[in-house]
Amino acid sequence: MTQARLMDGTALARRIVEDTARRAAELTARTGVAPCLATVLVGEDPASVTYVRMKQNRCRKAGITSRHVALPASTTTAELVGTLRELSADPTVHGILLQHPVGDHVDERAAFEAIAPEKDVDGVTFASFATMSFGLPGFVSCTPGGILRLLDEYGVDPAGKRAVVVGRSAILGKPVGMLLLARDATVTYCHSRTRDLSAAVREADIVVAAVGRPRLIRGQDIKPGAVVIDAGYNAGNVGDVDFDSAVERASLITPVPGGVGPMTIATLLEQTVTAAEAAAGEPEAA
Ligand code: NAP
Repeated sequence: MTQARLMDGTALARRIVEDTARRAAELTARTGVAPCLATVLVGEDPASVTYVRMKQNRCRKAGITSRHVALPASTTTAELVGTLRELSADPTVHGILLQHPVGDHVDERAAFEAIAPEKDVDGVTFASFATMSFGLPGFVSCTPGGILRLLDEYGVDPAGKRAVVVGRSAILGKPVGMLLLARDATVTYCHSRTRDLSAAVREADIVVAAVGRPRLIRGQDIKPGAVVIDAGYNAGNVGDVDFDSAVERASLITPVPGGVGPMTIATLLEQTVTAAEAAAGEPEAA
């Protein structure tokens, strides 16, 4: 049995970021507008601080300005909503990213809904979920959008294929399933209450693992020739798929790291420049 081909998210993300940086520079040269992403962080959760810093660094390299709003952990829902509404109304801000999690005492959904859809470059609002689900122009959730780009890059057309998405979170499992459905896949969602996960995965032409459980999906359950997308990222650089056994059965597989991970930030940067182009009335905008 031949081994699966690796889907190189690092290389594709690099090309997307290069193209994004070119578009950002051209927009600034034409209009004087510098694309700007506002990042909002509530509290000082170390992982979130690192993620936000990483996003800011990547913005800088792509010629995107970032504006950081650091709020104390005690911030109320009303205060956070107020901040997000101000950023939504600020013409110098083109994209808004609210770093998750915001703390249990905050109504995260109310906060997300305070982001103007035209600045929702992280694809978290109901409006973005709806356009994404209907396959209409709009901003997609970044990790799911990145996954679809990877499939396209490797010539995987979801139409007519059986896709099994393991996980149903609002930022990952649910939207990736909707994107696959919009591209005419037959989609099954699995989650913690699914009775026979192995049986469901065995049916899949495309498996998307989005669980957060190290090596939950085993090679023995992968249909020979299936495409395996591992969005999981667990301690020790381990995905949700048991790579060593799955690589023996799949035709294409994403490595961890270097598969889905780099695509998330690339999609965020690209959508920020698209938002800035649209705000400037530029034709290249989606
Ligand atoms: P999450 O919000 O914790 O959701 C996990 C999902 O997995 C839930 O729907 C849960 O089911 C389901 N689940 C849990 N245990 C299961 C089991 N034993 N069998 C089947 N389903 C099970 O996680 P998330 O935010 O979607 O993240 C998932 C993974 O992706 C994590 O490893 C995370 O680090 C990674 N991730 C990566 C990126 C990236 O950029 N690469 C971005 C986001 C997340 P219930 O709904 O029933 O609870």
